[in-house]
Amino acid sequence: MSIQLVEVSKTFGAFQALKPLNLTIEKGEFVAILGPSGCGKTTLLRMLAGFEQPTAGEIRMNRTTVTKPGFSLPPEKRRIGMVFQAFALWPHMNVTEHIRFPIRHHKETPSYIREREQERIASVLQMVGLEQHGTRMPHELSGGQKQRVAIARAIAAEPSLLLMDEPLSSLDAMLRMDMRREIQAIHRQTGTAIVYVTHDQGEALAMADRIVVMKDGRIEQIGTPQDIYLRPETEFVAKFVSKANLIRGRWNRDSFVPIGTDGTVQWQGGRVADHFKSCGMYPVRPDQFKLGTPEQAGISGEVTNVQFQGKEFHYHVRSEDGQWEISSPLPFQLHDKVSLHLPAEEQL
Ligand code: ATP
Repeated sequence: MSIQLVEVSKTFGAFQALKPLNLTIEKGEFVAILGPSGCGKTTLLRMLAGFEQPTAGEIRMNRTTVTKPGFSLPPEKRRIGMVFQAFALWPHMNVTEHIRFPIRHHKETPSYIREREQERIASVLQMVGLEQHGTRMPHELSGGQKQRVAIARAIAAEPSLLLMDEPLSSLDAMLRMDMRREIQAIHRQTGTAIVYVTHDQGEALAMADRIVVMKDGRIEQIGTPQDIYLRPETEFVAKFVSKANLIRGRWNRDSFVPIGTDGTVQWQGGRVADHFKSCGMYPVRPDQFKLGTPEQAGISGEVTNVQFQGKEFHYHVRSEDGQWEISSPLPFQLHDKVSLHLPAEEQL
């Protein structure tokens, strides 16, 4: 299903939780809505589901209007599956009954699924790896298994759109990594469009076809994971997604001279977003910088914190202009004087 949001906004009392926004989601696309707490992610998802009515604007699904002022197609008529952070399983139903429920009770379940209920249940159990656990009750399942049941229930009636609200945040770190892969596999197998809300940039970058970065009820940037990570367009996206250092300096067309260097250091930046050029900044991710000795031409600084991280070290370095984060395999000590370089191959 393709989805279009046209000038959709939401106000709670005097508070504007979502500023007018426009967004198109293509059929079968995996879109992550990424942003910090309170930026409006869940509100957006609830409007797609039909639980919340926008204050203004229109939502279309497959070019049919499902929401506009004075009209809202009820959630049960939208062929949508939902997965929440707190799995929301029914304590009195076993795994199979969780999957059977939407097949029997969703008004929009296609008849070919209803007529072959047993086959459908078996195939969904297999998709989420719970073939052996059909008769288990929720209290007999681990956290990861419970989340798989929640996903199985959401996809059972073959929805055209799967909405996921922070589905992995109550699982431990190892399990989260496994579940990322499983959700990707389910997306490939079902071909369902997914809108996936998260505040975890790693999750969004790893799984999504496109990421919508939100802040304070507004879309900051929409793009592929590579676009968002490699070419942020705003300070917020650069910091939130890439943990970038925003180095200040002087732009002369596409070349940049950082503050605190004597003019001999110049970085090329033909692909740096215009916003940074207009405010005299160059975004540099921690893994793009190289650290050298103080004699080398670069931004001079002092190491103010060192963290060993296995493959490399994570440093904080203070320069005349600010405090920066750098990942480097080279060992430096606290208080070492260093210089920061942006190698030509890392310049945008
Ligand atoms: P989180 O990651 O913490 O869930 P979020 O990005 O999903 O945050 P929303 O839940 O969409 O944020 O909320 C957006 C803003 O709207 C918040 O400031 C929230 O306090 C406010 N808000 C949400 N629902 C209501 C409501 N029913 N009444 C009043 N304000 C609300």
